[in-house]
Amino acid sequence: MPQIGFIGLGIMGKPMSRNLLKAGYSLVVYDIFPGPVAELTEAGAERGESCADTAARSDVIVTMLPDGPEVETAICGSGGVLEGARPGSTVVDMSSISPLVSQKMAAACAAKGVEFLDAPVSGGEPKAVDGTLAIMAGGKPEVFDKVQPILQKMGSTVTLTGPVGAGNVTKLANQIMVACNIAAMGEALVLATRAGLDPEVVFNAVKGGLAGSTVLNAKAPMVISRNFKPGFRIKLHQKDLRNALLAAESMKVSLPLTSLVQQMIMALMNEGKGDLDHSAIVTFIEGMAGIEVKKGSTAGA
Ligand code: NAD
Repeated sequence: MPQIGFIGLGIMGKPMSRNLLKAGYSLVVYDIFPGPVAELTEAGAERGESCADTAARSDVIVTMLPDGPEVETAICGSGGVLEGARPGSTVVDMSSISPLVSQKMAAACAAKGVEFLDAPVSGGEPKAVDGTLAIMAGGKPEVFDKVQPILQKMGSTVTLTGPVGAGNVTKLANQIMVACNIAAMGEALVLATRAGLDPEVVFNAVKGGLAGSTVLNAKAPMVISRNFKPGFRIKLHQKDLRNALLAAESMKVSLPLTSLVQQMIMALMNEGKGDLDHSAIVTFIEGMAGIEVKKGSTAGA
């Protein structure tokens, strides 16, 4: 079995690396915070001293970091992965970042004889814990084939979507659909509430029809019960939509709905709501109507 280095032990990386340990892989782990490293070493992993040290001791190096700048620092920075990685090793970046940065990282890795795959995930912390993430990869088929058994220990669907960057394009497409879905749900439920209907009754009436969706099933109950505990934070969705808009600009593509929802999210972040669950995008539309979507709401309330 290949030796795995795992860098970035946050909300997602910690349970994902635990699943690799459970599957019998040997892990070297590293994070800039010592707390999660200590938790993983107690569970059987070895401690890496830096990104470079972790890479030097691994055949496959997984990174799970917040955004492009952190990935660039961890891979190309001083003490980074490429200072330690052996030629023939493979970097699998599972962070959600701009596909343009994925391509830049792949080129930097190639210059050192290191393979690169982007493999962002969807499903959030519960699926990271269960090992049932949806993983969307981009890279050479032969590199994908080599690391697929490792990815299958973290996800229930693992799909090669195209060359390097394709995984993150797919993830951005996913994030566009989720954000616009939440905003549309907000408009629908605000209208129904203003009309004097119970939003829970409306949700139950439509969820089996064409408007039904995984997003609606997961997020409408949260809005109706006013539970905005994350889940997936608004500020992470802001990062994803920014990356989608930057990628779209580089390809000369207009994304008017994405731009609009991004403006809503910016306003919410300025109100201090960046750490709420992204279902709280609905509160922007509520604010414009002067009404809250909640059980038992009445018209004009
Ligand atoms: P997080 O902020 O909880 O974890 C990131 C970890 O990276 C932190 O522990 C941080 O200390 C570490 N880190 C940062 N820079 C580092 C460096 N240079 N070297 C080593 N460690 C470093 O974030 P998360 O929620 O685990 O998300 C990780 C990625 O997964 C993000 O791109 C996010 O968009 C994506 N994602 C998150 C979710 C979710 O529900 N949280 C779902 C799907 C995808």
